[in-house]
Amino acid sequence: MYRIGVDIGATKTKVLLLSPSGKILRREKILTDSFGRAEPIIFRVSDLIERFLREAGIPKHKLGFIGCGCAGFMDIETGWIDNSPNLKWNDVQFGKIFQKRLGLKVRMVNDVNAAAWGEYVYGAAKGKGYRNLVAVFPGSGIGGGIVCNCQLVEGATGTAGEVGHLIFRENGLKCDCGHQGCHEAYAGGVPMENRMRKLVKAGKSKMVYKMVQGDLSKINTRTIADAARKGDPAAKMIWDDAVMSLNVLCANLVNVFNPEILVLGGGVIDGNPTLVPTIRHFVKNRAVDYSAKTVKIVKSNLAGDAIALGAAAMAEAKC
Ligand SMILES: [Zn+2]
Repeated sequence: MYRIGVDIGATKTKVLLLSPSGKILRREKILTDSFGRAEPIIFRVSDLIERFLREAGIPKHKLGFIGCGCAGFMDIETGWIDNSPNLKWNDVQFGKIFQKRLGLKVRMVNDVNAAAWGEYVYGAAKGKGYRNLVAVFPGSGIGGGIVCNCQLVEGATGTAGEVGHLIFRENGLKCDCGHQGCHEAYAGGVPMENRMRKLVKAGKSKMVYKMVQGDLSKINTRTIADAARKGDPAAKMIWDDAVMSLNVLCANLVNVFNPEILVLGGGVIDGNPTLVPTIRHFVKNRAVDYSAKTVKIVKSNLAGDAIALGAAAMAEAKC
């Protein structure tokens, strides 16, 4: 059967058509532009899927499955979205509307869980015979996903794998989730940048102010890392916290899940090439020996397709 994978992001939505062997036959990105209401993006994605099928000469009954990855809290069985903060969707019957419009089964999945499954089926773990994978993606926040004994761990309510909200420091920085001290508050891209902006505004980092020529919107994690290397104390504090947060998070996950592979991805990893070797070194030294010896720590190689690929592969059983 042919399959469709959809990745609904806050700004762009990606749709892939896959052959029965998993080859990408069509790939297209459209603007999500669907804040507050889900119908506009559902209808545009449906039109696009119908066009894909027409162009490829595939009858609808040969399309077995549509997998749809989306940020937020959802019922993975019915596709009801309780809350997706990035898209400002609350109480949306996403799966039902989508299924009704296309007459095809839609499987919803949390976006980062889909990315972990994408890495497992098509990415860094492909063809290796691994049974266990942990994915950590520090981007704007920190997402994660876990494959345990060849199964994606989705938990009782589809929200398993929220590794960014594991607690790093009990009474630490406030996190966007409303709690305190989460890893995301220290190593998520947006929280790091906001923390740096605050310090620059307070006059605590003339170096970063100069680096962005006074335009604080230009501060990114690379700016912080560069300033830290050049000895700026404020940037160094933020960067050291981020590195230690990721080190501890990864070592803890390796201890809990004993995976054959830990995949790192997301903007913070992509923008800072020193992070993967640093995390690898820490985990090798600080995770329990048997787990540390086994685990391979690698960078994601799916170049932004992980969510859509993983969503399309949700029906696929492995080993
Ligand atoms: Zn949190």
